[in-house]
Amino acid sequence: MAKYIFVTGGVTSSLGKGIIAASLAKLLQARGFRVTIQKFDPYINVDPGTLNPYEHGECFVTEDGAETDLDLGHYERFLSINTKQLNNVTTGRIYQTVINKERAGDFLGKTVQVVPHITDEIKRRMFLIGDSGDYDIILTEIGGTVGDIESLPFIEAVRQIQWQLPEDDVVVVHLTLIPYLKAAKELKTKPTQHSVKMLSETGVHPDIIVCRTEEVLGNDIKNKIALFCNVKPEAVIEAMDASTIYEVPLLMLREKLDVICMKKLGISVYPEPDLEYWKSFLDKLKYPKTKVTIGLIGKYVELQDAYKSILESFIHAGAINEAKVQVVNIHSEFINEQNVEDKLKGLDGLLVAPGFGHRGIEGKIIAVKYARENNLPFFGICLGMQMAVIEFARNVLGIKDAHSVEMEPETKNPVISLMEEQKKIKMMGGTMRLGAYPCELRENSLAHQIYGETEITERHRHRYEFNNDYLEQFEAAGMIGSGTNANTGLVEIMELPNHPFFIGVQFHPELKSSVQKPAPLFVSFIAAAKKYNEK
Ligand code: GLN
Repeated sequence: MAKYIFVTGGVTSSLGKGIIAASLAKLLQARGFRVTIQKFDPYINVDPGTLNPYEHGECFVTEDGAETDLDLGHYERFLSINTKQLNNVTTGRIYQTVINKERAGDFLGKTVQVVPHITDEIKRRMFLIGDSGDYDIILTEIGGTVGDIESLPFIEAVRQIQWQLPEDDVVVVHLTLIPYLKAAKELKTKPTQHSVKMLSETGVHPDIIVCRTEEVLGNDIKNKIALFCNVKPEAVIEAMDASTIYEVPLLMLREKLDVICMKKLGISVYPEPDLEYWKSFLDKLKYPKTKVTIGLIGKYVELQDAYKSILESFIHAGAINEAKVQVVNIHSEFINEQNVEDKLKGLDGLLVAPGFGHRGIEGKIIAVKYARENNLPFFGICLGMQMAVIEFARNVLGIKDAHSVEMEPETKNPVISLMEEQKKIKMMGGTMRLGAYPCELRENSLAHQIYGETEITERHRHRYEFNNDYLEQFEAAGMIGSGTNANTGLVEIMELPNHPFFIGVQFHPELKSSVQKPAPLFVSFIAAAKKYNEK
């Protein structure tokens, strides 16, 4: 039977529960346990797919096509595992299931209530992955902050599980903040005391308290927290701010977070963690030999979380290339013909980001043109690839009004058009082309060189596609479709063979990049940027 670790958060949001959970999972995995992580989110959207990136950051897509919280990206990048729909559950999904059951008459005339019906459904889903027998330890992150109205049913479910399972099958880890007051020159434990008190009032007592802090905690503070929060001093863990999130597993190892969890779980025999690869990655990350500057062109650049997986992919690809990747955020809305050279000056590569809707696209097209004409390495992802296609149509093929029907439904030259199966879709949630699809690469193309094989799979999230009616014209003028879905004929990759590095992909390679397996396209893009920089 699987054992369960629950991770809750208190005091404020954005403390990095996802990173702490992923780091703990990494350590347990490095000690040979079969581990996975799931996240329960208290909002009412059925999944985050319908959320604006400004609301919730990037939407992470799994192999099986689930639109999930960005923390699942951290789990995959740390653990090199594939998560799936089951790993991310929202209040909306819980209620949807319960209400559907009620409509089907499955409750046999009973009054349907938060306790036990909603909490039963939460518990059923908390156990689903563990029941498969595929894992030894399941970490469950509870989204939100203790004390929020929305998180109550989830905390109640944790309470019931704590009560229901044998003592040594469950650990509750509570993450809090220990603020440092500059004027008093003191670390303050009161918010943590209150947060643990609030959690305890709901019946859940944490076994371990992880304290985010900018300053070293020291034994006095640890003892004070232990005393007031009723945990052993060894179960008060200091989580200092780290220079990179990839250092957190090692910090947690030093603080023995994994050992204390295993002790509570009754696991007394375990090997030393194998973190060789992780440490060599960190070394390369911290001591790069060169630097490249990449322009990230998007419309949500003010919000770093909107492009989380892309930024992390740059970190993985930079480390393997022993280069520091400095990312310059360039807002696509502010690029025009006059300032483009100035805006893109000093860059070694240009990435045009994914996105939706009309805003900022002309800036993206102008940036692509600059990269194409100046031999600047170019990498377009999803909308970024579509912009490269429009740019080529307008400026090389001379189809001045070429457009995407997403932005210009009546365009006479829809070089990007709506996929056939999308035409009848009216509902927005979960209806894009989602998840992993196979793609065949053309022999000797750049894409083929990059991947080193002709059959790949990558993850998708889009409604529009390259319009094959124009393919011959594109290829005759020098832009080739080098990756195609063999079943549907959809073009997934466009590239320019007579450019040092110009590639646009309809899929999202950033969703499969991890510390252990950096995404090949990112690795090659950074290598091309290095070459450009040397020149
Ligand atoms: N808006 C485009 C589409 O739906 C691109 C989507 C994306 O960049 N993820 O096809």
